Amino acid sequence: MVEMSCQEHDKLAAGSQFMTHTVGRVLDMLGLESTPINTKGYETLLDLVENTCRDSFDLYYGLFLYNKSALEMVERLDLAFDALRNELFGRLHHVVRKQLFENGEKVKSVHDSSYQNGAASAFSSNALRYQDVTIPYEFKGKISGSVDDNSKLKVAIVGFGNFGQFLAKTLARQGHSVLAYSRTDYRDAAQKLGVSFFSDANDLCEEHPEVILLCTSILSTEKVLKSMPFQRLKRSTLFVDVLSVKEFPRNLFLQHLPPEFDILCTHPMFGPESGKNGWNELPFVFDKVRIGNDERRVARCNSFLDIFAREGCRMVEMTCAEHDWHAAGSQFITHTMGRVLEKLQLESTPINTKGYETLLKLVENTAGDSFELYYGLFMYNVNAMEQLERMDFAFESLKKQLFGRLHGVLRKELFGDSEKLEVLQEKSVRKNGAALSSSPESVKIS
Ligand code: NAP
Repeated sequence: MVEMSCQEHDKLAAGSQFMTHTVGRVLDMLGLESTPINTKGYETLLDLVENTCRDSFDLYYGLFLYNKSALEMVERLDLAFDALRNELFGRLHHVVRKQLFENGEKVKSVHDSSYQNGAASAFSSNALRYQDVTIPYEFKGKISGSVDDNSKLKVAIVGFGNFGQFLAKTLARQGHSVLAYSRTDYRDAAQKLGVSFFSDANDLCEEHPEVILLCTSILSTEKVLKSMPFQRLKRSTLFVDVLSVKEFPRNLFLQHLPPEFDILCTHPMFGPESGKNGWNELPFVFDKVRIGNDERRVARCNSFLDIFAREGCRMVEMTCAEHDWHAAGSQFITHTMGRVLEKLQLESTPINTKGYETLLKLVENTAGDSFELYYGLFMYNVNAMEQLERMDFAFESLKKQLFGRLHGVLRKELFGDSEKLEVLQEKSVRKNGAALSSSPESVKIS
């Protein structure tokens, strides 16, 4: 039971309930669907749509028109969405200009050409991806017989930031030997986790890890990979990445790694926030891009995958292309919505609805991630631009629905019956005109 003034109620409800309905309606227009690799955040979005889609437009319009603070909320949401797009496009502009003018180089990198071809290739690659779709298979059942439960790996984490440290905790707990290398000095953090830290990549590679686990930001991965002293590693090393986009690292690995190295592309579809209470049932996507036939190499790859299977992850094998197609429509939209809402600085109120609580959860889920990560999702997934445009279109359509109705109501008030009269008169003139033109006698009469 919450006692408050009607005025106070309306103010709080505009920022919570009306906002929730607005976001729910925008998402509903996008026609979101469940994917085989839903993140927790994306499931929050699906819940939100479910929560609001059954309400009539009249109800929503009522929340908008009869609450004087609602218009301000639409404006704030509009501004927040614009601000986020400006951040993305401003960065694009800066990067492309830098490449064009400062280095005097032609824009030639994979990601830039994919941006320029964005819209066109999004469609062509969608068609390709539909053909590519593979049925996710249960990894757990397949490996349990083939991997020795005691097999421990020597894993070198390259990029020991937020996510690298998050993964290291579980690897170390499972008894694997964990090494780390990063441009920042993480000696203390590493020590607390029982990880050996190296500030020189040469020293790290001379330890001959069996697995190199790349946890660098999407944007820095190419630079970091190219700087690795491959010659100091064992001839057979397994390279794994955890980037939130998949085609990009796959192509990089194939392009730059010596042919005798194995390649496993993965995406644990959770993070320090969504996975803080364990990884059970959280999706782990993988693509065995190049694993040698040798029994030991196959076993090494399976031992690595087993780290996640043991924690209860839902192991989903799919191609990198298929992953990116699903992820743009789910993960990128989730991050975009989370970031837009974060800008609104939503706060818990004494009258939170369930739907509003899902919004708050969404912000919590995405707020800890760096802008680098989000920009990477946008820039390095060919499908992301199209999704951003779709969100923009959905929001604009919703505004048109609201303001169009306002327009109609006000015109009715302004012109009331006179407008109706005008229309009727116009109709009767047209009718008479038609009658006149079809009867020559009537002309005479007139
Ligand atoms: P991030 O901002 O994407 O990456 C931070 C990492 O990148 C740090 O280790 C940082 O090293 C390194 N880095 C950034 N710029 C660099 C540069 N110019 N040169 C060398 N290293 C550079 O944040 P994150 O959350 O830790 O994510 C790491 C990777 O995991 C990303 O590829 C992300 O897509 C993926 N991932 C993240 C999540 C998540 O929930 N966070 C979930 C799944 C996958 P220093 O710290 O040494 O500067």
